Amino acid sequence: MQINNSHKLHSGSLYWPTTLSHVPSYPALQGHITTEVAIIGGGITGALCAAVLARAGIPAVLVESQRVASGSTAANTGLLQFSNDKMLSELADKIGETDAVQFYGECRKALTRLYKLADEIPYDTGFHVRSSLYCASTSSDVPRLFKEYSMLRKHGFPVEWGSPHNTGHHLPIRKPAALVTHGDAEINPIRFAHGLIAEAAHKGAHIYENTVVEGVQRMGDKFVITTDFGEIIASRVVRAVSDVPGIESSSRIKPILKRSYALVTPANSLPASWPYDCMMWETARPYFYFRTTPDRRIIAGGMDEDQADPVSEANYLLNRTRLLLEELRGLFPDKQWEAEYAWCGTFGESSDDLPFLGETSEQPGIFHALSCGGNGTVYSMIAAEMLRNRILGLEQPMLALLSPERPPHPNSSAVNTI
Ligand SMILES: Cc1cc2nc3c(=O)[nH]c(=O)nc-3n(C[C@H](O)[C@H](O)[C@H](O)COP(=O)(O)OP(=O)(O)OC[C@H]3O[C@@H](n4cnc5c(N)ncnc54)[C@H](O)[C@@H]3O)c2cc1C
Repeated sequence: MQINNSHKLHSGSLYWPTTLSHVPSYPALQGHITTEVAIIGGGITGALCAAVLARAGIPAVLVESQRVASGSTAANTGLLQFSNDKMLSELADKIGETDAVQFYGECRKALTRLYKLADEIPYDTGFHVRSSLYCASTSSDVPRLFKEYSMLRKHGFPVEWGSPHNTGHHLPIRKPAALVTHGDAEINPIRFAHGLIAEAAHKGAHIYENTVVEGVQRMGDKFVITTDFGEIIASRVVRAVSDVPGIESSSRIKPILKRSYALVTPANSLPASWPYDCMMWETARPYFYFRTTPDRRIIAGGMDEDQADPVSEANYLLNRTRLLLEELRGLFPDKQWEAEYAWCGTFGESSDDLPFLGETSEQPGIFHALSCGGNGTVYSMIAAEMLRNRILGLEQPMLALLSPERPPHPNSSAVNTI
């Protein structure tokens, strides 16, 4: 049996759209419009860029081929962490301790700024500060995890060491060891994206839905962005989506597309023994993870696969959902687990686990905002502020480290291709 796969970035039954009682809508672009910045893509990355530019008084137009927050953002499980898929200690081995610590530090600062933004927009974004329990999946991972704890601690990140029973949370799960990071957060990604876009529109940004960018062409010192029924003339373009016709993307700055699975349990299924303020993930790759919701659901995910397209067979999705439920059962054996929603979604990765942010010398004026990896939202915040700082001529702290033109690091194992 085939399942609904029309959007191509996710399939199955999504949870977040059910949390919106009213979905704001925006017109399609018809005719010409001139602006300073054209943002292509209305997911969380485009939404953060639009809001940050609008707050700085920089004129912008955002175009989305479908509806706002209907792409990978709708499949996002909404965990925001300063720790990344690549542990700090492993990133340090790859790119050097100084750069790795700076990157982790910027992710932590980006989390604080996400909190500020979510707090300031007049919209319930589901943003809640949380701690993360990072578990050793097996006993053999314990030394690696302890090394991570030591390095995080050495550089002043808020972390505690302990097996789950002595972290102070009295957690019921059985894992050989764990560390706890503080100052992470959870969010409702669709509500957040809609809140940001509404804020940007309120401050003067022009938002267009159902508007497909068909080409980007340089004309003198401007860009002409051709859409299905209109045209944008802009001084700068933001690429907030993997592929845009007319934007050159060498294989090195193409995200490696993968797919991942997630499920949501019914309301009030969270065991009383699990603290509401704690998210969980682990050292295995791909990792299993979960977070909670205010109505005491569990959102669990994992089982990443090296496939770009979301799964199209219902039986396959069902099988993956069962495996995620088994993971939950392994942690909380006393409960009968079931999934009310289950989906598969596409996300991008890079070979060195860093996002591609900034311009290239080949196409100056085109800002790549490619937030790779499971921590994409935090990277999107960094992207939006780098973009604003670039336009205002302010400092961009991680320009070289995150540049789309950075040389492949000698310790990187793969080249980015799809
Ligand atoms: C199952 C799953 C769980 C995840 N969990 C997390 C998590 O917990 N935390 C986290 O930070 N990240 C998570 N991610 C990653 C996350 O999805 C991304 O970081 C982020 O939501 C991607 O947002 P985006 O705006 O970059 O892309 P998208 O949301 O895909 O937005 C791009 C938009 O561009 C539009 N578009 C495409 N082509 C055109 C065109 N030609 N013209 C105009 N518009 C166009 C698309 O319709 C789309 O809406 C997860 C991903 C998956 C799949």
